[in-house]
Amino acid sequence: MERQQHRADVVIVGSGYGGSIAALRLAEAGVDAVLLERGRRWPVDDAGDTFATQAAPDGRAAWLSETSPLTDAKLDVHTGVLEFVEGSGMNVLAGTGVGGASLATNGTMCEPPAELFRRTLGDVLDHREMHERWYPEARELIGCAPIPDDVYHSEFYRSARSFADQLDKAGIPWDKVDLAVDWDVVREEMAGTRVRSQIDGLNVFGVNSGAQRSLDRTVLARAEASGHIDVRPLSVVTAVRPAEGGSGYHVDYESIDERGEVLRRHRITAGRLVLSAGTLGTNRLLLRARESGALPALHAALGTRVGNSEVITARTGMDENNARQGGPAAILARDWEDNPLGPVSLLNFPWPQAPEGEGWTTTIGAVPAPALGAFRHDPATDDVVLHWPADDPALERAQSAIGHTLDRLNEANPGSRTAFSRIGTTGGNVVGGVPLGTVTDDAGRVDGYRGLYVVDGSLLPGTGVPPALTVAAVAARVTSTLVRDVVRPR
Ligand SMILES: Cc1cc2nc3c(=O)[nH]c(=O)nc-3n(C[C@H](O)[C@H](O)[C@H](O)COP(=O)(O)OP(=O)(O)OC[C@H]3O[C@@H](n4cnc5c(N)ncnc54)[C@H](O)[C@@H]3O)c2cc1C
Repeated sequence: MERQQHRADVVIVGSGYGGSIAALRLAEAGVDAVLLERGRRWPVDDAGDTFATQAAPDGRAAWLSETSPLTDAKLDVHTGVLEFVEGSGMNVLAGTGVGGASLATNGTMCEPPAELFRRTLGDVLDHREMHERWYPEARELIGCAPIPDDVYHSEFYRSARSFADQLDKAGIPWDKVDLAVDWDVVREEMAGTRVRSQIDGLNVFGVNSGAQRSLDRTVLARAEASGHIDVRPLSVVTAVRPAEGGSGYHVDYESIDERGEVLRRHRITAGRLVLSAGTLGTNRLLLRARESGALPALHAALGTRVGNSEVITARTGMDENNARQGGPAAILARDWEDNPLGPVSLLNFPWPQAPEGEGWTTTIGAVPAPALGAFRHDPATDDVVLHWPADDPALERAQSAIGHTLDRLNEANPGSRTAFSRIGTTGGNVVGGVPLGTVTDDAGRVDGYRGLYVVDGSLLPGTGVPPALTVAAVAARVTSTLVRDVVRPR
């Protein structure tokens, strides 16, 4: 198949938080860019059937696979919203589609407390600058807000109120967490004028009502409306390498159809290349490029300091089956000060399939587990494998910290007991591999390769709270340098 040749000033790979924010800031500066996204668009309409649901999953749930760890159903092969990749000690769940993982997240937008931020990122980033400038900017871009009182007190959110009540009894502080949710649409779900999605906890494969403030409807929509950003969905980048004569980068990509069949091969050459393919995607492209000799001088730390502080817990024996109730997570338990084993965050989390009559309360949360993981290139498959030392003693302490919080909850709420508690073995919150300040400078510029930038979750080691808001805040910060470099070349 002949390769089509194109040129662009700037190419962005991936349209999650990093890519969408880069696209918007470049567009605002009047810079034209091509954004290559491997996934499809997911336009939500009044039919309310854009995404697969947990009740009737189909190929839209998984990226080019007949199976998904989130359902037992056999799926038709489609360019669905979540890619699942098996690793050694930990598996990765990665969002795909225009808008990246924002299409299918729980939408929780947490800023880590100062102490956690300093512990994990303090050697590269100034906490005060991030807290005063970039976190507020990220919140404003995404447009997030906590659950409003009328929704919280409705019959659909008994689960959130019950979790708050359990925490009060245990003396554990909590907040209503910021969520990337359009609460007016949730009200329409409650009124029966929109398809029921969030109020039934149906968000893991995307939100059919349109209540999710995903990036394709917010940040990226603004970037596209400028006319400067050419978004090319169903464009899978396979390789990157410097162009001859040091004048930018060649980016090879394949146009595919919605079943993953390759339609055309392309090479686009750009003066600047911005990688925002998410933790899995960016590690894949860079490790492949180092192994193939295309980018041989990439730092030895590439692929390292991968973290996943996600915790899934389930308690049973409560009076009510709270897990079958509305979502997304509304209550953030902040066991940050009193837990002698380390700060623990827990968010109530719907589980629509929870067995009836067993009184489940499920949570998803985070602990500051050390970033011990590493992506390594496997020559047999020319792909990356995540290696996670699940038995490392350093993780035991983090696991014990969660146990401590759950024990307090169980003691204060007689009848309840912990059924499950594990630092994520299948991580949607996996970040790292391209450590900011080591593989790149503190502005995401890749060491040794002028004009090559990384602006996504792969820059972070994980901060002990869910990562999306920090990914967005860091993206906003590093993108400001990218824009300066493009507008006023060094
Ligand atoms: C199911 C799920 C739920 C989550 N819930 C939360 C939550 O509630 N709160 C929270 O804080 N965090 C949550 N996270 C984590 C959060 O979504 C991520 O940390 C965040 O999206 C990372 O942003 P990013 O820009 O690094 O990449 P992503 O959002 O992952 O976007 C990367 C994009 O790049 C594209 N891409 C990858 N490879 C290629 C390629 N070769 N060519 C072209 N395009 C490519 C992908 O298709 C994707 O669209 C969740 C993650 C998942 C998977």
